[in-house]
Amino acid sequence: MIVIFLGPPGAGKGTQAAHIVERYAIPQLSTGDMLRAAVKAQTPVGVKAKAVMDSGKLVSDEIVGNIVSDRIGEADCANGFLLDGFPRTLVQAEMLDDILARKGLSVDAVIELKVDEAALIDRMRNRIRETKERGEELRADDNEETFAKRLGVYRDETAPLVPYYEKQGKLRAVDGMKTVAAVSAEIDAILDPIQAKK
Ligand code: AMP
Repeated sequence: MIVIFLGPPGAGKGTQAAHIVERYAIPQLSTGDMLRAAVKAQTPVGVKAKAVMDSGKLVSDEIVGNIVSDRIGEADCANGFLLDGFPRTLVQAEMLDDILARKGLSVDAVIELKVDEAALIDRMRNRIRETKERGEELRADDNEETFAKRLGVYRDETAPLVPYYEKQGKLRAVDGMKTVAAVSAEIDAILDPIQAKK
């Protein structure tokens, strides 16, 4: 089963991804995590991506397209995977459709986590405070200014994916303002029947 998570930064994609990974035994492919690992390891891609990520802008479609293409060829993706943070532009969505078509595969469902922006800013402030309280290191892009930029990038570049997947009949909206458990239950109700047919 191939699932895409769509939603602005802070919508809870990471939290819900953990639930899906466990319930359906498919890996979570987060391009943000993969890029952060590349930055940490100072690979050529990481060196290129660091400044772009810190500023809240998007890394090039070519770079992320290659990362995803390589990753989904790995053995643990044989039964499907959950894409978190990819695609983020129409070009990336088209790249993904091409990559999958070449393997005789296609996206099964696109889950859009719908949340309101004011609540997102509150959530982001809480996340920063809690991370600091735990004495953990903050992500370089975890500050209010960059967050606002990332929200703008989502609106401009990523939101057009909603009609793209609607046209394909794959879009399923979920109310991301509910509790974590209630959101998980809504997602299960969408994915269980798809999984049952596999
Ligand atoms: P995330 O952890 O998904 O919020 O991603 C953190 C940052 O990594 C983003 O703000 C972008 O700079 C970069 N990034 C992650 N995924 C993508 C993508 N699919 N396309 C372009 N840039 C991305």
